[in-house]
Amino acid sequence: MIYFDKVSKWYSGGNSVAIEDITFQVAPHEFVSIVGHSGAGKSTLLKLLIAEDKPSEGTVFYESIDIHKIPRGKLPKYRRKIGTVFQDFKLLPHKTAFENIAFAMEANGRTDEEITENVPQALALVDLEDKIFNFPHELSGGEKQRVAIARAIVNQPDIIIADEPTGNLDPIATYEVVQILKKINDLGTTVIMTTHNKGVIDELGRRVLTMDSGKIVRDDASGKYVL
Ligand code: ADP
Ligand code: MG
Repeated sequence: MIYFDKVSKWYSGGNSVAIEDITFQVAPHEFVSIVGHSGAGKSTLLKLLIAEDKPSEGTVFYESIDIHKIPRGKLPKYRRKIGTVFQDFKLLPHKTAFENIAFAMEANGRTDEEITENVPQALALVDLEDKIFNFPHELSGGEKQRVAIARAIVNQPDIIIADEPTGNLDPIATYEVVQILKKINDLGTTVIMTTHNKGVIDELGRRVLTMDSGKIVRDDASGKYVL
């Protein structure tokens, strides 16, 4: 369970409010999309959830733990529960698909045996077994994003956070990425995604939070995109 309790975040002396008095919950295994114009506060909300930033007011809970009270030394353990996917993929350019994913496992203290076994499994889940030794520059945008998703899931997180994951993709690659996120959600992982894409929301038919000027202005149980 994720619970934002009256959370606000402002920057530089309080004259720029990024999010304001946000309260909502996400249950385990939900797939939640967050929509809203640029600057609405979507990325800020996700940054607070991965404890990359601190709220100015209010509390963010994960399973009744106030995540901003987790001691610095224990933060990596918390963050391992969350896999992240970004619009610009963030793959390491001089590493192959295999090495990019293996790197995330090494950082997590996993053994060579686990890496040899789990990297191909993760790539199979995103339908990219045949690109295992390709470098990012040898992959299409959609393929790069699928490698990034494989990297995000390989350590079996509870939650996947995807910030505009289809923002740089054409419609076909967008469709494929959404299908993969759905599949990961069906396998039991909570997914929280931001998007500008009405087609994606319609295709998903899942819960949609709409943000405007730092506030949640709608919370629809099934797929309404109103901007
Ligand atoms: P979205 O992801 O919906 O486009 P953001 O969460 O990135 O919106 O930004 C929300 C608001 O907070 C914007 O007005 C943005 O300029 C401001 N903001 C975000 N990050 C920072 C920062 N590090 N410093 C100052 N202002 C920021
Ligand atoms: Mg953003």
